[in-house]
Amino acid sequence: MTELTPLRTPDDLAEAGLVSREDAHALEAVSARYAISLTPHVARLIDPNDPNDPIAKQFIPDLRELETRPEELADPIGDAKHSPLPGLVHRHKDRVLLKLVNVCPVYCRFCFRREMVGPVQITGQASEPNLLQDARDYIESHPEIWEVIFTGGDPFILSPRRAREAAESLAAIDHVKILRWHTRMPVVDPERVSDALIQAIKVKSATTIVVLHANHPRELGPEAQAAIDRLVDAGIPVLSQSVLLKGVNDDIATLEALMRRFVELRVKPYYLHHADLAPGTAHFRTSLEKGRELMRDLRARASGLAQPTYVVDIPGGYAKALAAASDLALVANGLAQLRDGEGTWHSYEEDL
Ligand SMILES: *Cc1c(COP(=O)(O)O)cnc(C)c1O
Ligand code: SF4
Repeated sequence: MTELTPLRTPDDLAEAGLVSREDAHALEAVSARYAISLTPHVARLIDPNDPNDPIAKQFIPDLRELETRPEELADPIGDAKHSPLPGLVHRHKDRVLLKLVNVCPVYCRFCFRREMVGPVQITGQASEPNLLQDARDYIESHPEIWEVIFTGGDPFILSPRRAREAAESLAAIDHVKILRWHTRMPVVDPERVSDALIQAIKVKSATTIVVLHANHPRELGPEAQAAIDRLVDAGIPVLSQSVLLKGVNDDIATLEALMRRFVELRVKPYYLHHADLAPGTAHFRTSLEKGRELMRDLRARASGLAQPTYVVDIPGGYAKALAAASDLALVANGLAQLRDGEGTWHSYEEDL
């Protein structure tokens, strides 16, 4: 059966043969708590006969989502603490996050904003009519803001008309030099990355950059490649961000293939995020030690072009911390140790 509309309920998933009827019934409880959506494109990427399918794991709901651990937080990265007005997060001086929409074409089961995104939001802000104007006023009155990061939700869900309105309105502010769009659209609904949308986000007086969220090389097939090509051919730099996810990409072969595939598609690996403490996502989390080991293996095996920065958000709104182990240890005044690819430490003397 070829799907033409998104799958939004456990029944839809059963109809499409992606879960059993019994499982669909049990999953109603998850559906009542967290939004479900798979685009037809994502549904087609899933192999229903593979119980460990890495695409299915990311988008098909799981009963374990109902188990919330004490350390898990509704707002794991502490957005609310740094939100001067609804939809805006200003934690770092030179840049703001602007959440114009709180809907996505898909709902990732590990989403760090899962309590805020969805057709019916459980907490968090609505897409208010004055949001763009209010955000614009705030940004205009803060000359230290150099970059605006459109996030959400997925801002590529905006119509080209609304995307252009947002981009032009913010690019018109003198001190705003960079407009960055965080999106999953090129991999989950590639056709929506249309020439009209691309032209809409390209503006004269600011530089447009796209950061693509993808977690497994199978997300980067020919249709996604075509969407990425349209962006890059239009002169827009594309970077990646991925989330380290148990059973999806927490083995070196998959992680390496993912990073190589990004580079082959002219996408510069940017961040590998340690999975956040979002409610009901413990089954996706790896240990920090495992993440570090993977980063060391990746460094040893792959081109420098294929290296993302491994980061972990400090719960409570204290921003991202660098998570990879350093190859430099300061031993004493003027004396350091440097570690090579095999793990051997070498002395390094400074004579200053
Ligand atoms: C991650 C994040 C950013 C962007 O950080 P970069 O390191 O520039 O990619 C900006 N603001 C907030 C609140 C963030 O969490
Ligand atoms: S696309 Fe991003 S914001 Fe939307 S559900 Fe996935 S991780 Fe969350």
